Amino acid sequence: MTLVYIALGSNLGTPIENLRKSLEHLSQKMIIKDRSKIYEAKPYGGVKQNNFLNAVILVETNLTAQKLLSVLQNIEIKMGRVRTIHWGARIIDLDILLFGDKVIQKDNLQIPHTELLKRAFVLIPLSDVHPQMLFEKKISEWINLIGDSKDVWLTGESW
Ligand code: AMP
Repeated sequence: MTLVYIALGSNLGTPIENLRKSLEHLSQKMIIKDRSKIYEAKPYGGVKQNNFLNAVILVETNLTAQKLLSVLQNIEIKMGRVRTIHWGARIIDLDILLFGDKVIQKDNLQIPHTELLKRAFVLIPLSDVHPQMLFEKKISEWINLIGDSKDVWLTGESW
């Protein structure tokens, strides 16, 4: 069994319902061990669109990383995600952040996720479920370093 951190994001339709629905799909394929709080974040990358809801979950799975990626992509498709522009709006986005202690550098899969240490909307929810994470610096130091925490705030939403 491998412990995996997965990032969830949505900014189309009813994002809170999309997060809940995706968690339901995920729970049919893996064991959900922990969930972050639910955050709202300004869209990243300069495309004009609605704010996102973001969260991170910790799961346990027997799947390989590649198989897990295809499970996540199937859930995205099932939920009606249409791939448009990079950084564009989405019903649901599911990304593998960390897969045990594996490092993977394939064309279709990079682990740790390449954006992991660069985005407050990933790091802040990740720090709820993985406060001890250490990549040369503590997670709290990465959050301070990237300095866009003001663009991410806690919602009153619950799972
Ligand atoms: P996105 O638009 O963020 O959903 O990016 C999707 C693409 O990123 C897919 O084509 C994946 O193959 C690729 N990708 C690379 N690394 C990862 C990862 N760690 N988790 C999810 N998707 C990944």
